Amino acid sequence: MKILANDGISKSGISKLEKSGFKVITDHVNQNDLIKYINENKIEVILVRSATEVRKDIIDQCSSIKIIGRGGVGMDNIDVDYAEEKGLKVINTPASSSQSVAELVMAHLFNISRNVFDSNRNMPKNGETEFKVLKKKYAKGIELRGKNLGIIGFGRIGQNTAKYALGAGMNVIAYDPFIDEAKIELSIAEQIIKVNISTTNINDLLEKSDFISLHVPMPKDGKPVIGSEEFKKMKDGVRLVNAARGGVVDENALIDAIKTEKVSFAALDVFVGEPKPSKDLLLNDKISITPHIGAATLEAQDRIGTELADKIINFYNQ
Ligand code: NAD
Repeated sequence: MKILANDGISKSGISKLEKSGFKVITDHVNQNDLIKYINENKIEVILVRSATEVRKDIIDQCSSIKIIGRGGVGMDNIDVDYAEEKGLKVINTPASSSQSVAELVMAHLFNISRNVFDSNRNMPKNGETEFKVLKKKYAKGIELRGKNLGIIGFGRIGQNTAKYALGAGMNVIAYDPFIDEAKIELSIAEQIIKVNISTTNINDLLEKSDFISLHVPMPKDGKPVIGSEEFKKMKDGVRLVNAARGGVVDENALIDAIKTEKVSFAALDVFVGEPKPSKDLLLNDKISITPHIGAATLEAQDRIGTELADKIINFYNQ
């Protein structure tokens, strides 16, 4: 049985699959050549991350496919309902990357509290000649300890982010229309500390938060969760992180909110129109930017690979 891991898969995943008799192909096939490649090679399982799309055309024209697998959470690059209607199995690895995304969010929170990202841009260029000017420019940092972090979407990643934020001494305010309360367990020096967090309403969160981080799926109606109306309700100088999906925050409204200093800093790991994000965001000196690397750690990729392998092996053993 042949598996095409078109956006790659960890060595641990490959080794598990090969031990069970699968042939794993990790060559990247261009989107336009996929149908031909799958049919010529009789691929039964196609594995993707966020880059390759598996749409109706592939589902309709590639009868050898039995499983579509997504390494990660968001399935917006797969026509899931259509695939399932046609009897295909669609799998993903929802929990494997939560820890890594939460850690990236903390990296961005520390970054935008001290403007580290902009300092990293300017020190190599001007550090030798304008050290004192830069020192003054970056002298207005703030501490995370004691600040309110508003978490919008209190599922796996939201709750993992809460663990780190509580550890850093932040107060967590959460909003999630489907979760009333979450029990957060912090493991510190082999002791478990339990913290119950009740969610609040969105307006309360927007009004009280010093930092806001989004951990929601892209709404089905395509409307951003944060747009100009929501920005208006936030504290002046609020700092915002989006490591959920591009489009969850209205990018134009964000740029406007930065211009009016409603938002002092933002951090983005995800963008509308990936892999070609808007230049206005990339060049904005108030935005810390990473190229959708929330799940891109060795540990998360390892877990993703082995979780996919287990699910595929189980499917064929049924
Ligand atoms: P999850 O399903 O565990 O949690 C999402 C939560 O959002 C749910 O509890 C849901 O009730 C809530 N929610 C839905 N709509 C909401 C709304 N309008 N307002 C507030 N809450 C709402 O998902 P997760 O594993 O925590 O992942 C969250 C998002 O993170 C995913 O949608 C995915 O796109 C993104 N993600 C990004 C990366 C990355 O590399 N940056 C990696 C993995 C996941």
